[in-house]
Amino acid sequence: MDKLYVELFQRMFIRGARLIIEKEPYLTEIDSVIGDGDHGTGMKRGCEALEKLFLKEKYAFVDELCYAVSTELIKTMGGASGIIFGTMFFGGISRLSHRDYVDARELSEYFLEGERAIERRGKARPGQKTMLDALYPACVAMESCVARSSDVVLLFKDGYEAAVRGAEDSKLMKSQMGRSKNFKEKTLGFPDPGAVSASLWFQAFYETVSEVR
Ligand code: ADP
Ligand code: MG
Repeated sequence: MDKLYVELFQRMFIRGARLIIEKEPYLTEIDSVIGDGDHGTGMKRGCEALEKLFLKEKYAFVDELCYAVSTELIKTMGGASGIIFGTMFFGGISRLSHRDYVDARELSEYFLEGERAIERRGKARPGQKTMLDALYPACVAMESCVARSSDVVLLFKDGYEAAVRGAEDSKLMKSQMGRSKNFKEKTLGFPDPGAVSASLWFQAFYETVSEVR
C-alpha cells in the first residue's frame, strides 16, 4: 500500500481510541504505582471524545483529520498528557499535504516532527522514561523503513514493533520527568504509562492497515 487514504487514516485513529479505552485499567494501574494515577482516565476521556466526534465528522483531507484529532485530545484530556499526545498528532502537520492521502515518507516525517515538537514543548529527551521512549524508536524505525520501501503497512509494522520494544525498555529507566520523577527507583521494573499509550496507538495503526492488504 503506497497511499494511505484519509478514510482509512480516520479508522486507524478510531481503533487506537478503542484500544486505549479498553486498556485504561492497565494504564491506571501503572500510573498509580509510579505516578498520580490519572493517566488512564485522562487518555480514556480524550479517546471517548474522539470516538464521539468521529461518529459525526468525516474529513476530506489528511491534515484536517490530524488537526481535529490533536485539538480534540488537547481540549478533553487535561494533564500533561493532553498537551503531549495532542502535540504528537499536531507537531508534524506541516509535513502532510492538503489532500486525501499521504505516503509513507510523509507519514514518517509527520511522526518525527511531532516527536521533536514534544521534546521542545516538554523539555524532555528520550531516555528519561516518558512516552518519547516509545515514540522516538518508532520514528527511527519508520525513517529507516522509508529508505527501503514505500509500503505504508511495513512502515506501521516497523513503527509498532519499535514502539513496543521502547515501552518495554522503559522498564529499565528511572523516571526523570513529570510527576513520576518523585518515585525515582520505585519506577524501575514498570513501563512508563505514556510510553505504553504511545505503543497502543501504533498497535492499532498497524492492525488497521494490515487488515486491508
Ligand atoms: P500528569 O503527569 O499530568 O499526571 P499523565 O499522568 O496523564 O499526566 O501522563 C503522564 C505521562 O506523560 C508520563 O507517563 C509520560 O509518558 C508523559 N510525560 C510527562 N512529562 C513529559 C514530558 N516532559 N515529555 C514527554 N512526555 C512526558
Ligand atoms: Mg498522571
